[in-house]
Amino acid sequence: MVAVGGCGESAVDDGVEAPRPQPGVDVWHVRADITLDPATRQLDATAALDVVHPDTLGRLVFGLEDALEVVTVRVDGETVLFWREGDALDVPLAGADDSSRVEVAYRGVPEAGLYADAFAGQTVVYTDGWPDRTAGWLPAVHHPSDPATLDLTLDVPEAAEVVASGRAVGDSLANGRRRARFVLDEPAPPYTWAFAIGDFTVTEQDGPVPIRHALLAADAHLASRLGRTPEILETLADFLGRYPYETYATVQVPMAYAGMENAAAPFLRAELYGATAEGRNPIEEVNVHEIVHQWWGNAVVPDDWRDLWLSEGAATYFTTEVYARLDGPTAGRRFRTLMSREISARDAARPLVPQSYDDPGDVLSATVYQKGGAVFHLIRLTIGDTAFFEAIRQIQRDYADRPLSTDEFRAALEAEADRDLGPLFERWVYGEGVPTLRTRWDESTRTLSWSVEGDGGTLAGVPFELYVRQGDQSWFVPATDGVFSPPGDARPAVEPVGVLLTVERD
Ligand SMILES: [Zn+2]
Repeated sequence: MVAVGGCGESAVDDGVEAPRPQPGVDVWHVRADITLDPATRQLDATAALDVVHPDTLGRLVFGLEDALEVVTVRVDGETVLFWREGDALDVPLAGADDSSRVEVAYRGVPEAGLYADAFAGQTVVYTDGWPDRTAGWLPAVHHPSDPATLDLTLDVPEAAEVVASGRAVGDSLANGRRRARFVLDEPAPPYTWAFAIGDFTVTEQDGPVPIRHALLAADAHLASRLGRTPEILETLADFLGRYPYETYATVQVPMAYAGMENAAAPFLRAELYGATAEGRNPIEEVNVHEIVHQWWGNAVVPDDWRDLWLSEGAATYFTTEVYARLDGPTAGRRFRTLMSREISARDAARPLVPQSYDDPGDVLSATVYQKGGAVFHLIRLTIGDTAFFEAIRQIQRDYADRPLSTDEFRAALEAEADRDLGPLFERWVYGEGVPTLRTRWDESTRTLSWSVEGDGGTLAGVPFELYVRQGDQSWFVPATDGVFSPPGDARPAVEPVGVLLTVERD
């Protein structure tokens, strides 16, 4: 996800309280058939959940918003009595099986997770699922650690266009209705299952997988701003491993966030398509971030919300790497300097992995984005490119079917690098506060010098760079040099590139 105006403002107070996952319970496939009236958002639906679970388990608990009425629940074809409590749906298990198919028929108008908003006079009905608001339209275990494959059919009025997670496998018209079916072949967490209904203009592109861009009429001419999507997918596949899904799509949606990494079909904020910035392409930058999430967040899922930095830090950092590879090293350095600049002292000082949290929204701050990205950069500089990217690709293979915790991430890096990263993780992941970069300026010799304090030795010999500016001249200087002599008389401004340090001037 990218919040509006940069990363990390939490805008989520959703009113949904989906139940916690049950140990040993894995929803691995969901098939849903939803009849929807876009004008009222009234839905009438069935969902079949394939679940594996301990054979001694007496009940399954799913999240489904209490605004929806549950009509029937069947377990392996047998109708059962169920309970509702808040946003939980409690389903009894009678047998001694270790797998069940649970079919739920339900209807109503969701209070969360399904919205109707307009952009330039065009209304889009769309889902927005982070963190557990997919419970507004679909029962599931709404937690990042339980991704599943999805087979979703939407039945809507004929005139409506539908774009959804996964590849489009059928679109049939009959009796004034459209039935559009989408299949997501690789698992993704429920908060990334999504659909949007609107009058979209679709532009197609060839790439490593078929690419579609769904834009609204007012901005249909702006599809070219996303024209580098094939190169972005290829660049990422080079260093992250094979793209996880069969297709890729972007969808222009009048939503609150700048972007949301919906599986194989990210939603991008409608207002951003026309936005411009000096030398930059704002909608493309959000697209890159959401594409990275297809690997980090969707295919490899965090074990818990407290491990969210693995998803958002990766998306933030690998976006800078995409620009370094597409537009050259200077572009990469600029993005990394911004990454370590656009964070408040408070967010920089907080531990990346919180001890505890009340709501997933509490974890969503610049800490997991910018500090998370900076720690990815620091790990790379510490263990070197070869070990870092090997480990990153190995994690995609090893964690395709199980969630990734921060401890497992560290272990995977240590195995590839053959060294102990304990001090780095203690200082930068679990520790509080930010080390200091102390700078000194000798006017007589025009010499800038610096040293680092409070890093616990973790930066010794680490080849990070400093961005040094004097007047309208600037340089990227290796921090390991310790000194730099610029040509002018004025004391230069100094910023670390992609590493979080509080700069103090002596
Ligand atoms: Zn994100």
